[in-house]
Formats: sequence, structure tokens, C-alpha cells
Amino acid sequence: MTDGGPIRILPPEVANRIAAGEVVERPASILKELVENSIDAGATQIEVEVVAGGARLLSVSDNGTGMDRDDALLSVERHATSKIRNAPDIENIRTLGFRGEALAAISSVSRFCLRTRRATDLAGTELAMSGGKLVDVRDCGCPAGTQVEVRDLFFNMPARRKFLRSPQTEITHLRQMFLVHALAWPGIGMKLTVDGRVVWMFAGGSSLSERIREIFGAEVVGALREVRLEAGGLRISGYVSRPTLHRGDRSEQYVFINRRPATAPVVGYSISEAYHALIADGRHPYVFLFLELPVEQVDVNVHPTKREVRFRQPSDVRDALIRAIRTTLQEGGARFVAGQAGALADAGNKTGAIVLPPGSKEGLLKIDDLPAARAFAYPKLPPAEGAPAHPLSRPAVLAGLPDSRPVGKPAQGDGSGSADGARSPWAWCRVVGQVGGLYVLLETEDGLVLMDPHAAHERVLFEKILNAMEAGTVESQGLLTPETAELPPRDALHVRRHMEVMRKIGIGVAEFGGDTFVVDALPAGFGGLAVRDMLVDVARHLELLGERGSGSRWREEAIAQAACKAAVKARDRLTLAEIEQLVVALASAEMPYTCPHGRPTLIHMSFKELARKFGRE
Ligand code: ADP
Ligand code: MG
Repeated sequence: MTDGGPIRILPPEVANRIAAGEVVERPASILKELVENSIDAGATQIEVEVVAGGARLLSVSDNGTGMDRDDALLSVERHATSKIRNAPDIENIRTLGFRGEALAAISSVSRFCLRTRRATDLAGTELAMSGGKLVDVRDCGCPAGTQVEVRDLFFNMPARRKFLRSPQTEITHLRQMFLVHALAWPGIGMKLTVDGRVVWMFAGGSSLSERIREIFGAEVVGALREVRLEAGGLRISGYVSRPTLHRGDRSEQYVFINRRPATAPVVGYSISEAYHALIADGRHPYVFLFLELPVEQVDVNVHPTKREVRFRQPSDVRDALIRAIRTTLQEGGARFVAGQAGALADAGNKTGAIVLPPGSKEGLLKIDDLPAARAFAYPKLPPAEGAPAHPLSRPAVLAGLPDSRPVGKPAQGDGSGSADGARSPWAWCRVVGQVGGLYVLLETEDGLVLMDPHAAHERVLFEKILNAMEAGTVESQGLLTPETAELPPRDALHVRRHMEVMRKIGIGVAEFGGDTFVVDALPAGFGGLAVRDMLVDVARHLELLGERGSGSRWREEAIAQAACKAAVKARDRLTLAEIEQLVVALASAEMPYTCPHGRPTLIHMSFKELARKFGRE
């Protein structure tokens, strides 16, 4: 991203069209401006040094294009930039900077020193300023590139200096700003030194996932899924976390719009929408998303710090983002064991425990594929040594449950099925037992999984209903005796308002006069459900969600969610056979990791994690 040309002072009619405002709020905003300049100058190595939270020193050096003496002198003038020339250029910005104000603003509130040299020049230029006044300019020896030193920030503005926070607070902001740029530009080598200590050092030439790993660690990377979508002129790429990795705020959501760390209201909205029913309210996934679109589709001239941008076609961006993330979350199940595919067959042999085939195209069990009589007709633990070679040819085993019955996929020769194995959260798994009278413990190819069978059951029922609805094959089972329920007026209102949709998911509900309703049928699999509780749950759930106008299916989903919850609650205990079937059904769910309300269904602990906890690593 080099701009190249000489620096010019923008004519007033151009300068006036640029979003005005203060760019120097605090040390972190200076870091941002200087690092962006380095990136615009094509640097491949950027080093930042900070002393006393940036109040005493903030220095950024790069190996970019550098400037000659004339440009160096001009660069600190207001509205001096090499990046735009005229008003139409504002609509077509390809660099990070363009306002020509940063160096002028920074040099007017500090003791400022710029050293710069173009690779082809013998001597560099050193320029010293104090409170906006030129103190000295001279030739100097310096490496090719540019170094900007900002000392004694706000020394000439005591009122503003007082507003600087404690060094720790400023450093938190500085580090965050540094990391945002490190994520946006994994190809650039970057180093941050704070009070003489190197706190981050990233090698150049990295990929995004390598850089994320360096910053957040392997565990976060392991929970990420790749996003990739091209639609029209819009390209979306990056990573999002599986729904089980989340946090209470949006601070780990990194969004780059044409490589610019930026936000736009529609982006946050789309992320929430994509995770709707996957993640609990108030929880947020990790995202590292890059949106690239033609520059004329984005207005960056909205906010002086360019943090917020505006899309010309926000609804296109919204639709594409939701689709990109949803697709990723639906397909990506197996990727959290990515890289282990080769080891799967081996692992399978050792344990002799196979429920699901490796992430191949081979048949993934669906609950309906699992005729009870065959599925559980296998010998008891432990499996003999020297198990047969192909994982599918071994029965799966189930140990530790009351009667130690084995569970698994019947040996079916080629095992060819229709479902896509890539969706399963595990290539194979073994039900080890149930703990605490509730949680189901599974062993998988790369670790342990605890499953909450109630949450899992909700997820499975929920998807079954939605799929049936989509396919137009909702199965409703008539009740032997229709049940009536009188509801509080508010709840009655909600049920009345959404009765049509309730019927669509298989709840045969009708008005019975006043605030009383009669239910004569329930969706298949909902037997034993307390009708009144279900109606109240549905009504309250709808109320809680409010009238969200968007998301075509939200009403259906909301009702299905509440109904599933009620259904699962009504059937407090699952039998062993049901749990076994559930494991298989959950594995083939589209979104196996959370219940429809966003609580986790599975908690995963990898062998690596265990090894670390046991001090074996
Ligand atoms: P802007 O980045 O908006 O153009 P700045 O005040 O940040 O405005 O910088 C003014 C000009 O100084 C830039 O347009 C660029 O030509 C030059 N410049 C600033 N920093 C660097 C750098 N690190 N390397 C090379 N040139 C730079
Ligand atoms: Mg700039």
C-alpha cells in the first residue's frame, strides 16, 4: 500500500470536505496514526517503543519508502498529504491515511523528532519540532525508512496532559491498538517495547492464523473456523469461533474493512444475527473478519479517526456476512479436530471404539439409521487387542454405564451413507459413562467430551422441527385426549398472535373461548409434554425476544426453541438407549455445540490440554 507521490498541501475546498476532528486523543491514537503511515509507506517491519504509557516517549520506526528533505518538511504541515490530491480522490481511498493532519497534530502537542531516508538517498533528514514550531532540520545518518519520536506528549497543554490516564491504562490501549494492526497485517514484522521490555515480537510473512496463534494461543485457534465468501464485489474472509468459545463482551471481535480496523453498525448486527440461537444472549463469539469491497462502496470519511465506516449497500453486506458465518458454522464441525484426520484410523484401532467414521464422505449416522436391535448388539468391553484394520469394521463400545452395553455403528461393509461426515464434531467417539447422574462422558479421537444430554436433546429436537418445517414434512401426533389450558391474559395474547406459526411446527392449538386454548396435537417426539407449561414457555419466550422485525425465521425458531425446552423439561430422565441415540443424533446436527438457547451441549478437553494439566508437556 504505497502512495509514492510527493506531498502537497490540499487546497481548502478539498480540505473542507474531510471529516474534521481531533486525531490525537491519547497515546494509542498516535500509535495508530504513525503505524498507519508506516503501512502506507510499504513497510515490512515496524517497531514501536513506549515509555511511561506514551507520555514520555512514543516512537515508531519503519523500513518503508522514507522521505526526502522537502517532503519531510511538508509532512508536518496541516493538510499535507501525498495520498489524495482533489475532491474526487476522497471517494476512492486506497491508503489508510488521507487527511494529511496526523503529523501536524502530533508535532504540535509534543517534542517531535522525525528521521527519514529514502533508500536511494545517501543522507537522511532529521527534523526537530517543539509544540508545533520547527526547532532544527539537518542531514543525518539513519537507516532507510522513517522514525518518528514523540516525547513529552501534551507538555505545552497542561489541561490535556492531566487527562492522560495512568501509564497502565494507556498501555492497555496502546497494546490493543498495536495488536489490531498486527492482526490486520500479519505479513508485516512488528515489535512492541514497553519501558525497555519487548512485549510482542511478531515475525513478518505470517499468515493470519499464525498471527492469531501468536497472540491468542493454540486453544483459541483450535476453536476457530475459516470463513470465506465472495458475493458480487464483496469478499469476506477470516475466522469465527465455534459457538462454545465466547465472551461477555465484543472486545475480541476484530473486523477489518478493506484492511482498515473499522466498525460499521451493520457488521455487529450481522454477527449477532448469525449466532442467533447458537450463543446465549449477552455472549459474543471471537471473530477475525476481513471484508474487502470496491473502495467506492465504502465511505471512510465519516469519522476523523476513521474508526467507523459506512457502506453504500449495507443490506448486501449484512446478507453476505450472515450467510458466510452461518455456512461456516454449519459445515465446520469437524474442523476443530482438523489436522488429525490421518491419525484417526489408528486411534480407532487402539480403542476399538467407533461411533462415527472419520471425517470422510462416508455415512454419518443419523438417529433414524440406527435400528436399536442392531446397534446395541455388540460384545462387551474391553475390545480385544489387535482389532481389525478398518475402523468401521469394529463395533463401538460403551463402558461404565449401568449395564455396559456397547453402542455404535453397525459394521456395514463400506458404510456408505448420505450425510456428510465433515459435520460431526468427532470422527469417532466412545461413550464412557454418565457422571453426576447427568453428564455423559465421551472419549473422542482427540480428547474428552462432556455432554449435557438435556441441552443436546433440545438441540436435536430443535433441528428436527426446523428441518421438517423446511421440508414441509412436519409430523404432528394427535393427543388421545385434547388438553385445555387457561393462560394469563398477556401470555394468551402472545399465543393468540402466533398461533399460525405454532401450528406450522406441529402444535395443534386452537382458541377455546376467553384466554383458554385447546391443544389436540403435538410435534412427533414431544410425547409427555405438559401442554400448559409449553404454551406459557412459548408465549414468554416470544415476549422476551420482542418484536424483532428481521430474520425471516425468527418466530418459527423462537417457538421451536421454547417448545423443545418444554419437551425436554417434561421428560426429565432419558433412558440409556436414548442417551446413546442422542450422541449419534447430536453428531449429525448442523449446530451441535449449543442448545437452541445458546448454552453449550458439549465441553471439550483435548488430550493436549490434559497433558499440559498433568505436566506432561
Ligand atoms: P496522511 O497520512 O493523512 O497523508 P500524515 O500527516 O499522517 O497524513 O502524513 C503526511 C504525509 O507524510 C503522508 O501523506 C506521507 O506522504 C508522509 N509520511 C508520513 N509518515 C510517513 C512514513 N512513515 N514514511 C513515509 N512517508 C510518511
Ligand atoms: Mg497518516
